[in-house]
Amino acid sequence: MRLVFMGPPGAGKGTQAARLAEHFGVPHIATGDIFRRELESGTRLGKKAGEVMARGDLLPDEITNEIIAKRIRQEDAQKGFVLDGYPRTPSQAKVLDQLLEEMGANIDAVIKFMVTGDEIVSRLSGRRSCPVCGEIYHLVTRPPMNPGVCDNEGAALEMRPDDSEESVRNRLEVYGQETKPLYDLYVARGIFREVDAIGSTEEVFQRLLDAIDSR
Ligand code: AMP
Repeated sequence: MRLVFMGPPGAGKGTQAARLAEHFGVPHIATGDIFRRELESGTRLGKKAGEVMARGDLLPDEITNEIIAKRIRQEDAQKGFVLDGYPRTPSQAKVLDQLLEEMGANIDAVIKFMVTGDEIVSRLSGRRSCPVCGEIYHLVTRPPMNPGVCDNEGAALEMRPDDSEESVRNRLEVYGQETKPLYDLYVARGIFREVDAIGSTEEVFQRLLDAIDSR
């Protein structure tokens, strides 16, 4: 199963991608997570990524494409993947096509997460994550058992630096300009599905399974 998740920041893609990937037994490949790991490890790429991400801008296509090419060619991704946050530009979509052609594979579905502007603001302002295991929480809709502390690791939860109001505004702008134009490409191929992403994690998960089944 090869799935691509699209949708604005705060649409809940990461949470659902992790769950769906587990459901289908394929890796969850999130470019944002890869860049954040580089940042934590203090690599040169990580330092650059940290600055770009904090502003809410995109990393250059060449860097992002190279990372994805390396990841998708790995053994565990041969049977499928859930791509979360990639492709985000026309150049990235082209590279993904080339990689899949190399593998003799196709994208099964591109799923767009539909959310309202108010919902995005609420989700991002309440979002907290564990710096150790990456688990995502929400102050209101998915609070940890002990306030401010990860259920798995006991680590203090953090807000993502790019969830600040200014950065979110820019991320939405970038999304509209760079990523939205990709919708047409996938609509034309008949693999584009829209899923209502407002509701409980369980509800949205069921809708995703239905959308995938209806292919
Ligand atoms: P995300 O976790 O998907 O919201 O991504 C966080 C940040 O990582 C983005 O705002 C970008 O700065 C960077 N990033 C993630 N995916 C990509 C991509 N496909 N192309 C360029 N930059 C990306």
